[in-house]
Amino acid sequence: MTKLAGRPGGAADALTQGQTRGVIRVMFRFYAELNDLLPEHRAQQTSVLELPLPTTVGDAIESLGVPHTEADVIVVNGDSVGFDRLLADGDRVAVYPVFEAIDVSPIVHLRPEPLRDVRFVADVHLGKLARLLRLCGFDCRYRNDFDDDELVDISLAERRVLLTKDRGLLKRRAVTHGCLVHNQDPFEQAVEIVRRLDLAGSIEPFTRCLACNGMLDDTDKEAVLSRLPPAVEQDHERFSRCRDCGRVYWPGSHHERLEAIVDRLRSYLG
Ligand SMILES: [Zn+2]
Repeated sequence: MTKLAGRPGGAADALTQGQTRGVIRVMFRFYAELNDLLPEHRAQQTSVLELPLPTTVGDAIESLGVPHTEADVIVVNGDSVGFDRLLADGDRVAVYPVFEAIDVSPIVHLRPEPLRDVRFVADVHLGKLARLLRLCGFDCRYRNDFDDDELVDISLAERRVLLTKDRGLLKRRAVTHGCLVHNQDPFEQAVEIVRRLDLAGSIEPFTRCLACNGMLDDTDKEAVLSRLPPAVEQDHERFSRCRDCGRVYWPGSHHERLEAIVDRLRSYLG
């Protein structure tokens, strides 16, 4: 989480109102897809929350089920604030999701600068999504035995967006760049991520190894001859090979099926 200073005075205001202990009442409104994360009775409406003193706006938002990685802009009483802003009785809080278009320049964006070259690490349940992202040329680390600590470490050390369906994982303070995956179907998940991070223009299919995430290089037929089935040796002239695991790729029937997947994905992205 970013450590942006909250607007000073929130707690002091509360103290001067005699609320040294006890409960404050704060109004919350969440926008766009953040409503999907709220308990049903709080979605799509202003709801009043009773909170103990002191409570930061970040803690209050997470207590409602919304991981901090999902909120990009928080406005309290008309001012854009950081997660650490202490809440006071009667505050009105509006929370906007990441990449929701808001044309307000002085706003405090809660996350660090967007990552210029978007790279991912996917949790153990998102193997099919990882392959689809690699198919589109995106760098996505994945192993079916990464534990949560490893995922967080990799995300931080390699500046990768952590992809997960686990809200608890994204609520960890250490996580700076994460994306909560909403859809169940891997194809829909890929559309969701590419759309949400505005990556449609960055798709470069068949540049990355689906098996290990390594980059593919064009290679001479002679160099890979020993690894080819006889039918492939006869019918194909263009080959590429993974820099990391050595796997060889050629434009066969499997390639056509993959090409159709990329085309379909692009059609969904408009
Ligand atoms: Zn490979």
